[in-house]
Amino acid sequence: MINEHRLVQTFLELVQIDSPSGDEQQIAECVAESLRARGAQVKLDSLHNVIAFVPGRGVKQGVKPLFLNAHTDNVAPARGIKPIVAGGQIASDGTTVLGADDLAGVAAILEAAASLAENDKKHLPLEIAITSQEELGLVGAKGLDLQDFHAKEGVVLDSGGPVGAIVLASPTQNLVEITIKGKAAHSARPEGSINALKIAAAAIARTKLGKLDRDSTANFGIVRGGMARNIVPDKVEIVGEVRSRNTRKLERHTRAMKQGFERTLRGTGAKLEFRVTRAYNRYEFGKNDRLVQRVARVLKQLGRTPRYEMTMGGSDANIWNAKGIKAVVVSVGYEQIHTPSEYLPVAELVKAAELVETLALV
Ligand SMILES: [Zn+2]
Repeated sequence: MINEHRLVQTFLELVQIDSPSGDEQQIAECVAESLRARGAQVKLDSLHNVIAFVPGRGVKQGVKPLFLNAHTDNVAPARGIKPIVAGGQIASDGTTVLGADDLAGVAAILEAAASLAENDKKHLPLEIAITSQEELGLVGAKGLDLQDFHAKEGVVLDSGGPVGAIVLASPTQNLVEITIKGKAAHSARPEGSINALKIAAAAIARTKLGKLDRDSTANFGIVRGGMARNIVPDKVEIVGEVRSRNTRKLERHTRAMKQGFERTLRGTGAKLEFRVTRAYNRYEFGKNDRLVQRVARVLKQLGRTPRYEMTMGGSDANIWNAKGIKAVVVSVGYEQIHTPSEYLPVAELVKAAELVETLALV
């Protein structure tokens, strides 16, 4: 049985360990220790991913384990989180995020493992990946060695809203890094200079950003450049992205972005570097997919009506699906993530743990 008190205590303990992206050793060790105490065989890798295997009970040898994943890192402001439990909800004190994204997912997995360990019901073996640096670009998942994993499918607990959502589709993302090189000069003697900032501004202005079509978005998130007020800037860097759930549209939008920059730079004497890196690949499931139906069935069993969602976000699930473990993202109950107003209803946290436990029962 899911123990609400223990689950909430675990969650409160986790969020009070500072775990901004990349500073996750301490939380990884804490999670590893908890999993060991629940009878799992646990390994930590150099990225501070926690890998845990829980043997099944009463099932045939060779039965496929259930794959479970959540991540340990929090987005800023994430240091010194002081969770407050009131009115059936957990929130931060308003100065930091709460960290329910994704420590609610981690806590739900830990509680499910504890509950499975202390009753005598038959259950599947569990293969658990608690990953690091998800928010920095799925870094832990990308670096995780899946060699010891035998699971073919499972769930990623890493989406907002009440428990019940099943994410059916996620886009491919291209990371775009642009450098415009001009020629510096003293601002009072600008003859012969090439102002990279002015050219960058013109190129940015002609680029379509935001929602491009039903499946696609584009953004420039960072612009860096310039040395001083009285120097003509000779170099500007722009970091952006294009996402689409449709690979052909993705390539078309990325190409259009590049051509816009090339046209703007033509005849200016400035040089363009336009680097495109694939951040992650799309996936898509139908409602009739066997794994989707398996999760939907359990949700109904727990009194929830499944909600099918299409996201424009990437998650570790993009990596697992590309690496051969079929994984669907499910919601964990948190709201207003990536803000100091983030909160988590306790009843949803309990439901998320029940979802994990019930998926493991056979
Ligand atoms: Zn997350």
